[in-house]
Amino acid sequence: MPTTPTLDVTVLGATGSIGTSTLDVIARHPSRYRVHALSANRARQRLLAQCRTHRPRVAVLEREEDAAWLREQLVDAGLDTEVRAGAEALIEISEAREVDVVMAAIVGAAGLLPTLAAVRAGKRVLLANKEALVMSGGLFMEAVTRSGATLLPIDSEHNAIYQCLPTEHRGGLARHGVTQLLLTASGGPFRGWEASRLAEVTPEQACAHPNWSMGRKISVDSASLMNKGLELIEACWLFDARPDQIQVVVHPQSVIHSMAAYNDGSVIAQLGNPDMRTPIAHGLAWPERIESGVQALDLFEVARLDFERPDESAFPCLRLAREAITAGGTAPAVLNAANEVAVEAFLEGRLGFAGIGELVERVRDACPVESADELGGILEADDRARHEARARLERR
Ligand code: NAD
Ligand code: MG
Repeated sequence: MPTTPTLDVTVLGATGSIGTSTLDVIARHPSRYRVHALSANRARQRLLAQCRTHRPRVAVLEREEDAAWLREQLVDAGLDTEVRAGAEALIEISEAREVDVVMAAIVGAAGLLPTLAAVRAGKRVLLANKEALVMSGGLFMEAVTRSGATLLPIDSEHNAIYQCLPTEHRGGLARHGVTQLLLTASGGPFRGWEASRLAEVTPEQACAHPNWSMGRKISVDSASLMNKGLELIEACWLFDARPDQIQVVVHPQSVIHSMAAYNDGSVIAQLGNPDMRTPIAHGLAWPERIESGVQALDLFEVARLDFERPDESAFPCLRLAREAITAGGTAPAVLNAANEVAVEAFLEGRLGFAGIGELVERVRDACPVESADELGGILEADDRARHEARARLERR
């Protein structure tokens, strides 16, 4: 049997939920993958533990003081990992010549520049960091085409759709006989709640997702349905789809991860247990398949699959996202930035849950839509929306 060459992997956001699951899958296949670099924001203790286990060549933290601490610890542990700090270092570990695969698993806009660097360098990019694509969609996809990067979606819904589409699916869905993408949503912890009850919810309730265990930001997004809104935008870019070709379907069991409907009446779905190691393993090994550690799906245990329409009056964020991708230009970047500020304020107890959608809508109304053809314009729109959101939070 021919041996597969070992691939060098950079994991951006290694200490998070996706990063940890990625390292779990990688560790199951030591001859296929070698860890080139790991990054974290502030979680230096966690990163130290990961360096001991995975022995990367480079480790990156945000602040120099944390990097200095990690350097000392690694010397004591007898490891020769190079430790660096700052945004420039994140870009370097994403585009380095020896790197084959980059897992983009930083949360939020902070992941945009390193993810884009990996794309421009033509890497295999495993995209978990949906905010990066939401902000820069057109520019991002153009960079993929230009560099010849292989972009594989890790978000479970998009990974499912990817598996349900023909391998070559660019150039519009209609060309391939696809009539609709069915984007499933668990509905989050507040599914079925009236708008009036949502006013009182706490960050702890919002972060207690019924099916998935995730970072705090995406957990709040799932509870507000902004996550589904960001995913709608993500799907438009990844699959060349118009917003009206995407139907959001609430499916509380989270067993069907999404579907593609074809003009002959076929609907193809991807099913599995809700565990991110499945899409991660798919992205790492594509077009092959590898073992991920996820338990086989037991349909008798699942027993039933339910479907509902999303409630856009109690959860306005889905509508706001659809309006943003329809408006185009910098509107999705503004939506994303306002949401990041709102979610942070909610998690810190400075904003009520219903305030998230309200703040995003006010910021949207205050920020004109500009062209998103240049990175500079996108970053400016992001910055302006954050300022606007913070100013409004202070005035309240
Ligand atoms: P998380 O909060 O658990 O982890 C985030 C990681 O990014 C950590 O390693 C953190 O140190 C790093 N980070 C945070 N801020 C940073 C900054 N300013 N600069 C550099 N690094 C920074 O988040 P997560 O749940 O793993 O999600 C990561 C991304 O994957 C998000 O974009 C999320 O939407 C997406 N995603 C997550 C899941 C999931 O199941 N967790 C599913 C689909 C998509
Ligand atoms: Mg998802």
